[in-house]
Amino acid sequence: MTSLSLVIPFFNEKESLPELIGQLYAAMNDPELHNLFDAPFSFEIILVDDGSTDGSMDLAHTLCASNSELRLISFQRNFGKTAALTAGFLAAEGKAVCTLDADLQDDPASIRPLAAKLFEGYDLVSGWKKKRMDPPGKTIPSKFFNAVTRIFTGIPIHDFNCGIKMYRREVIKRIELHGDMHRYIPVIAGWNGFRITELPVNHRPRRYGSTKFGTARFLAGLFDFLAVLFITRYFRRPMHFFGMAGLISFLSGFSISLYVTLEKVLNLKPVSNRPILFLGILLIILGAQLFSTGLLGEMLSTSAQGGNRYTVKETNNLSEKQEATIRRQ
Ligand code: UDP
Ligand code: MG
Repeated sequence: MTSLSLVIPFFNEKESLPELIGQLYAAMNDPELHNLFDAPFSFEIILVDDGSTDGSMDLAHTLCASNSELRLISFQRNFGKTAALTAGFLAAEGKAVCTLDADLQDDPASIRPLAAKLFEGYDLVSGWKKKRMDPPGKTIPSKFFNAVTRIFTGIPIHDFNCGIKMYRREVIKRIELHGDMHRYIPVIAGWNGFRITELPVNHRPRRYGSTKFGTARFLAGLFDFLAVLFITRYFRRPMHFFGMAGLISFLSGFSISLYVTLEKVLNLKPVSNRPILFLGILLIILGAQLFSTGLLGEMLSTSAQGGNRYTVKETNNLSEKQEATIRRQ
């Protein structure tokens, strides 16, 4: 069995690739890394070409011809980093799997410490770009984003979107990624019950090419954050979300209407010509709608396939068939 799979998504990184491969091979030659795994140590480097148009793919083919550990998956067009990681994860055969960016910003020398940390008893070790070598236009919003994600998800790490991460095989075979959700892999893994930690890693400035994510990253990140929050927290119990919002809205509307009615009954003010009455009516209707949306969501999530998703930790004495059935969802 392969000990370690390195998964490297790339999109137009022609200048960086040869140097990266050299550095990766140097890192894989480290006897201390080998000691962390059962002998004999073996590795594979899965390059995922996310629709490059700068000749990176041809270069990768040439590199594959002279290095038997290299594998290449090449996409028809640019599908995004999440899709590239998904393909790499499906192909990975290693007991441990490490992702790295292809632009030389992640240092392959971090692979060994990350693996050492993983085998201390974690399922995912996320890199932490403690001293980040990127322009402030990127680092400041990112700090904010990380803080919000940490608070909302309760997952105590500082750098959710770090390119370099080390996983146990079980994690990458388990998690499902959509949209641009590579940013939230630790969140998804955390909600599946995997043990997560972080380790500061060396981060380097980008030397060649330019960043592949413009300012659109922030909006995409926001929507994916909402989706992740919903999927991990409320997917199985939509009523908790809609029900609460519905209840608040309904009760506020009800109180307003009651107040207006009482004033009328006590002959203080007539009901007509009171704008607040409309707010009351609006909130009551909105509340009822939210409530029924929650109910519908609840019905859908219980009847839909996969509505009851779980993650198995261990089993005992199950037949192969049983095993396959419970794990196939
Ligand atoms: N990448 C990719 N597909 C894309 C965008 C980026 O495979 O659509 C790769 C890119 O080549 C790099 C990694 O994802 O290896 C991180 O991208 P980048 O360095 O541009 O992100 P940043 O460091 O600016 O956050
Ligand atoms: Mg980069």
